Amino acid sequence: MHYVSTRGHSAEVTFSQAVAQGLAPDGGLYIPRVLPDLTEVIAGCAGMTYQETAYTFLRHFATDMEPALLQKIIDKSYTLFDVPEVAPLRRLDEKLFVLELFHGPTLAFKDFALQLLGNLYEEQIQRTGKPINVLGATSGDTGAAAIHGLIGRQEVNIFILYPAGGVSPLQERQMTCTGANNVHAIGIDGTFDDAQAMVKDCFGDKEFVDAVGLSAVNSINLARILAQCVYYIYGWHALPTDARDNVEFNVPTGNFGNVLAGWMVQKMGLPINSFRVATNQNDILYRLFMHGHYESGKVQKSLAPSMDIQTASNFERFLYYTLGCESHLVCSAMQAIKHFGTYMFEDFDTDTFSASRMGDAEISRKIQSLYKKYGYIADPHTACGFKEVLPHLTTVVLSTAHPAKFPDTIESAIGITPTHPSLEKLKTREPFNPQLPSNTVAGVKAYVRKHAK
Ligand SMILES: *Cc1c(COP(=O)(O)O)cnc(C)c1O
Repeated sequence: MHYVSTRGHSAEVTFSQAVAQGLAPDGGLYIPRVLPDLTEVIAGCAGMTYQETAYTFLRHFATDMEPALLQKIIDKSYTLFDVPEVAPLRRLDEKLFVLELFHGPTLAFKDFALQLLGNLYEEQIQRTGKPINVLGATSGDTGAAAIHGLIGRQEVNIFILYPAGGVSPLQERQMTCTGANNVHAIGIDGTFDDAQAMVKDCFGDKEFVDAVGLSAVNSINLARILAQCVYYIYGWHALPTDARDNVEFNVPTGNFGNVLAGWMVQKMGLPINSFRVATNQNDILYRLFMHGHYESGKVQKSLAPSMDIQTASNFERFLYYTLGCESHLVCSAMQAIKHFGTYMFEDFDTDTFSASRMGDAEISRKIQSLYKKYGYIADPHTACGFKEVLPHLTTVVLSTAHPAKFPDTIESAIGITPTHPSLEKLKTREPFNPQLPSNTVAGVKAYVRKHAK
C-alpha cells in the first residue's frame, strides 16, 4: 500500500517513509488514497489476542516491512502494559461498557500509538544506520508517552519542551524522573503555544534540521492513527454477541485522532453504528458536529487538560475522505480555516456522528454519579464520554486515562485519592531539569546541537 498527502502535492510514499517523515512536504497529512475494504480481515480477528489483532490489521498497511519484523515490533510494543488483555473491556451495565486504554507505561491511551512508534523509529535507525533526534512540545500526556516510547534506546535522543508550571506535577515527573540519559524534558518559561511555536521555528530552519537529523513527534504521524484503529476492533470483538447490534463508541476528543481512527476502521468494515464526539468546555468539535460550523475559540483550562484544544489537526484527514478524496477541496478548506479561522461544512454525516460537551462542574458530578452507581472511578477525560448515554444503543466509552493521573480532581469529587504503583515510584526519584542557555529558539537549537546524537 502507498500513502498520499491530503493536499495532493507530494509524491506517494511507502509506510516506512510516511512514518519517518511525519508531515508530508506539502504540509498535508499522509493517508491511504482510498480506505481498503477489510470486512473479512476484521471479522477474522474474533478470539484473537491484542497483539494478533494488531498484526492481522497492520500487515495490510505496513506492506513494505517483512512480516516477521512487523510481528516482532508489535509484540514488543505491548509488553509494558500491565494487564494481559492490553485493552480490557469492562461491563458496567447491561448495555454500557468501558474500554480501558490506560494500562500502558504512562497510563494514558497515547501509549498505544507511541510505544509502537518508538519501536518503528528504532527499526528505522537499524535499517539506515542514522541516529535520530526527536523534538516536540507537549501540554502533558503526549510528551510523557513519547518519552516512554523512546526511553533508554540507543542512537535516539528525545527533547520535549513543556510549559514550566503548566503541566500537572505527576505528568512533569513522568517526563523528568526517567533516569534515562537520552531524555531531555525541558520546562520553558511560557505557555504550551509558546513551546509549540519554538518547535515549529526549529523545524523551519532546514539547515538545522538536516544537521542534527531532527524528527517530529506529534499527533499527526500515520502510524499513530493506524495503531489506534486496533483497539476498536479488539474492543468490538470483546462485546458479548447479544450486545453487538447498534454499537456506539463514545470518544473523549481533543485533536480528533482517537475518534478518526474509529471512523476509519468503521469505513473499512467494522460494524460500528455510530460515534459520540465528547468534548469538555473547549467545544470546537461539539459545535462542528452539531452545526457544521468549524470555528476556533480561545483555549480555556479545564479539569480534562488533554482535551484543552481549539484546533484539531487530524480533522484534515477526515475532511479528505468526506470531500470525496479531492485534495484541491482540502486545500481550499484549510486555507479558509487558516485565514478566517472558520469554515462551514455541508453534508455532514449526522447518522454516524453526534457530539456532547461537559463543563467542569458537570465533569465532577459525573465522576461522583458513576462512582455511586457502579463503583467505577473514571478520570475527568473519560467522564466526558458518559454524558447522556442512550438506552437503545450498546455504548462503549473509551477510557483515555487512569484516574490516578488526576488525584486532586477525583479526591474533590468523591473523597478518594486513587493511586497507581508506577506513579508512587516516580515520587521517590530525583527529577532531571535541564536548562536552556536562553529561553529562545536560539537557546533550544544550541541545546539540541550540544546534546544531539
Ligand atoms: C490526548 C488525550 C485525549 C484526546 O485525544 P485526541 O486523539 O487528541 O482526540 C483525551 N484524553 C486523554 C487522557 C488524552 O491524553
